[in-house]
Amino acid sequence: MTKSMFGDQKLMPTLIHYRTRCIGCNVCSEQDPIHWQISADDAKATLKGGITKGAVTICKISEIDKELSLHIAHNCPMRIIKVQD
Ligand code: SF4
Repeated sequence: MTKSMFGDQKLMPTLIHYRTRCIGCNVCSEQDPIHWQISADDAKATLKGGITKGAVTICKISEIDKELSLHIAHNCPMRIIKVQD
């Protein structure tokens, strides 16, 4: 068996969020509530299950979720969402 048969996370796309510039417009959380929610604390979007380092939050996503995430990244008015292979 190869590593990928166990779902090697290195092969999964990465969703990247530069949260400090978020304006809380809700576009991401409306289109993908599985990965995004608006925080009750500061009204900015939060990437669910993400790991935050400094001003950047990252989260691995499945290939199936990649197309929707690219669509959301394109529609984010602040362009603070990136999808990386
Ligand atoms: S679409 Fe962009 S600006 Fe709008 S809430 Fe989501 S991350 Fe923030």
